Amino acid sequence: MNIEKSRFLDWQKASAIAADYSTPCYVYDEATIERQAKAALAFPNAFGITVRYAMKAASNATVLKIFSELGLHIDASSAFEVKRAMLAGIPAENISLSSQQLPRNLDEIVAMGVKFNACSLHQLESYGRIARGSEVGVRINPGLGSGGTNRTNVGGPASSFGIWFEYIDKIKETAAKYDLKIIRIHTHIGSGSDPAVWQKVAKMSLDTVAMFDDVRILNMGGGFKVGRMSNEVSTDLQAVGAPVAKLVEEFYEKTGRKLHFEIEPGTFLMANSAAVLATVQDMVDTGKGGYEFLKLDTGMTDILRPSIYGAQHPISILSPKPETETREYVVAGHCCESGDILTPAPGDPEGLAPRRMLKAKIGDLCVIDGAGAYCSSMSTSNYNSYPAAAEVMLMKDGSARLIRRRQTLEQVLENEIS
Ligand SMILES: *Cc1c(COP(=O)(O)O)cnc(C)c1O
Repeated sequence: MNIEKSRFLDWQKASAIAADYSTPCYVYDEATIERQAKAALAFPNAFGITVRYAMKAASNATVLKIFSELGLHIDASSAFEVKRAMLAGIPAENISLSSQQLPRNLDEIVAMGVKFNACSLHQLESYGRIARGSEVGVRINPGLGSGGTNRTNVGGPASSFGIWFEYIDKIKETAAKYDLKIIRIHTHIGSGSDPAVWQKVAKMSLDTVAMFDDVRILNMGGGFKVGRMSNEVSTDLQAVGAPVAKLVEEFYEKTGRKLHFEIEPGTFLMANSAAVLATVQDMVDTGKGGYEFLKLDTGMTDILRPSIYGAQHPISILSPKPETETREYVVAGHCCESGDILTPAPGDPEGLAPRRMLKAKIGDLCVIDGAGAYCSSMSTSNYNSYPAAAEVMLMKDGSARLIRRRQTLEQVLENEIS
């Protein structure tokens, strides 16, 4: 098996960043972010497209600003994300909210001009009460899912996201009661890279759109799978999008309605746009027939996906010299938790899968790639009282900029009352 090589960090860049900001830290790569954003903006479409960055993937203001400057809008998952985006300077009208939990301050958010997708009948009813006579979107569960694992599946009967597709009448009833115009249909069903699946969901979504005369926007969410490991494949957006655009065009020929299209990628934009830079802080082995472990100064506090999904992330040891000697290691995180493993068996967080990499020694720098989406924003922050790691942006000009300081112990404790 080929050993994984770091995507955008070499020893020289990494050691400079480690010297300035210490480890562990997230290192984002502006060039990759921009490249992915441009690919998303080129998604095939018939009558115009809005690309919304699903900001829950990585929520740092600098990341939001880069996307905003490139012309992307925002998909927020909570009222707090809405506020966070606005604090980063994103105009309210460029933010769309689709949340599992109805915000207590929905009235305030709607009044600011944020666009709302009702994700349940209760949400639609609540929206109607505060914004009678206005325009709104609805998130539909089309009855089909396409997630990478059960835990990332957000469509089908086992998913609580959106309004079940058989309840269109109930949506219409509530809309009529509050004089609401349903102008957007939203069907985000989770990670998938299969053009046939997108085509199928697009058909189902257009059938739903046909049932609502006022709908002028179809939002099919995100879920474009990205290969983090070198043997995993990434979604070809052109291949996925072309048949969907064709269906939207056919819909126009049949109905005379030109639908504006929206996608909301998180993973696609960010997965390979950041790495965790760490240090090998210890090595142990469990004897003959056992394992050799590398212990890093990071772990589930900064990158939780391996522990909960058995997700695979490239891990590479950096060296100032060209090394060739390799070894198999199990890579462990720094938490006192047997599940804090960075090399689980694929899709099986309970299993260990020793990984071949360059021979390491204590003190070596280590890069965990594919850590841009759902890492910094989704971690067991402060477990074992480790402070949240610093975040650094590697700029296109080669310079490195601190975009979030490392948390201090005082900050971890600041809300405690004794
Ligand atoms: C999380 C989320 C996305 C992004 O999903 P990815 O798999 O990261 O592309 C898009 N839309 C909604 C509503 C989401 O909740």
